[in-house]
Amino acid sequence: MTDQYADVIIVGGGIVGLWTAYHLAQHGTKTILFEQFAYPHTRGSSHGQSRITRTSYCEPEYAALMPESFRKWEELEDHARKKLFIKTGLLTVYDVTKRADDFHSILKNLETHKVNHEVVSGDKIGKRFPGLMFDSMHRGIHDADSGVLLADQCVGALRSLVLRKGIELRESEQVLSVKPLHGEKVSVKTVKDTYHCQSVILTCGPYINKLLEKNNLKLPVELLRVQVTYWKDTSSKDKYSASNGFPCVMIPHGLACFYCMPSLEYSGLMKLGWHIGTPCDPTARDQLTPEWRRAADSHIEAIRKNIQTHYTDVDSSDPALIESCIYTETPDRNFIIDHHPEHRNIVIGSGFSGHGFKTAPSVGHMLANMALGLQPPYNPEPFALRRCSSISRL
Ligand SMILES: Cc1cc2nc3c(=O)[nH]c(=O)nc-3n(C[C@H](O)[C@H](O)[C@H](O)COP(=O)(O)OP(=O)(O)OC[C@H]3O[C@@H](n4cnc5c(N)ncnc54)[C@H](O)[C@@H]3O)c2cc1C
Repeated sequence: MTDQYADVIIVGGGIVGLWTAYHLAQHGTKTILFEQFAYPHTRGSSHGQSRITRTSYCEPEYAALMPESFRKWEELEDHARKKLFIKTGLLTVYDVTKRADDFHSILKNLETHKVNHEVVSGDKIGKRFPGLMFDSMHRGIHDADSGVLLADQCVGALRSLVLRKGIELRESEQVLSVKPLHGEKVSVKTVKDTYHCQSVILTCGPYINKLLEKNNLKLPVELLRVQVTYWKDTSSKDKYSASNGFPCVMIPHGLACFYCMPSLEYSGLMKLGWHIGTPCDPTARDQLTPEWRRAADSHIEAIRKNIQTHYTDVDSSDPALIESCIYTETPDRNFIIDHHPEHRNIVIGSGFSGHGFKTAPSVGHMLANMALGLQPPYNPEPFALRRCSSISRL
């Protein structure tokens, strides 16, 4: 067994771990990033073809993360010399008789960040965006600067960039334990070796509690298997394609939402989903019990109803394609970005609750600064662990 040293070790090479590595590289920090699987893999949360990116958030703390994130995605495109972001625009539609406050919060955030936007009344939505139908109780906000990130390509491009910047990226090397030592160091044991460092950053996606439980902490996150469903565009004129100007659409529903992306990654198919899932074990994600299968079917039924209510030319009989992914969901759907309560040099980035791809450049900036003992670039309070009353100290 050899003994190896880094200033910072990152555990988990999904989109958040990779952006964190990028920011550490900007500081010239000697960093090792461990990823348990070989790239590319489909066993975390960052795989798949597409993710929505948007400033249209009700909460100012998320909207505040977006200017830097948009800039960094653009820089990554320049480095990679390929398109990673498709500016489709995003239409968020509310039933304003029930959720006027959320509607106005989004407008306020878009105005604060000077994002191009327009308000479209429900009965005009179908005219402005053929293929959609809403009644006059609804109102939409079209955020023209939002769009789709090509997720797999982003991960690939960022991985190449951090390697070029000198990050040591060890694939297929699972971290087994993280142990704080005296003298403010941490020992990290992997399947291959033992390493020492000043700080560890845990960006383990759905596997977070497997490591934290060995450090007397369990985050209140639920691991949800999510079905990504693609449905057939039956319009004769390719109404729903990104090239024809069809936007992403979000229809908030409780804490979750129905969403859709224009047909983009698979021609003639639209990604239409519900931001909801069924509990799973990430090591056996697709082994569904009959009860889970029933829940998954009921989610498809809800998407079907959403299509029948709001989309004029989409075949709602059955999805043409289903892929799966995992959300690491907190009770309030807010991220967890904090130090371990007992060990300051263990920093945690978790609980991204199905919306953490777009903000990964800014969240990575926060995590890197926290590990280096620098001021975080954004207010960490909304993401603090102590808001979760149900965290368990084991
Ligand atoms: C279906 C779906 C749709 C989504 N849509 C959107 C969207 O439209 N917009 C948006 O912004 N976000 C979206 N998200 C959320 C977003 O994709 C996730 O929040 C984000 O990818 C989380 O990244 P991560 O790096 O935290 O986790 P992950 O991608 O899961 O990465 C964690 C990594 O850590 C590795 N790891 C774990 N434990 C260890 C260990 N012990 N040793 C070594 N490696 C380890 C894992 O193998 C994994 O690769 C969506 C997610 C899903 C599933």
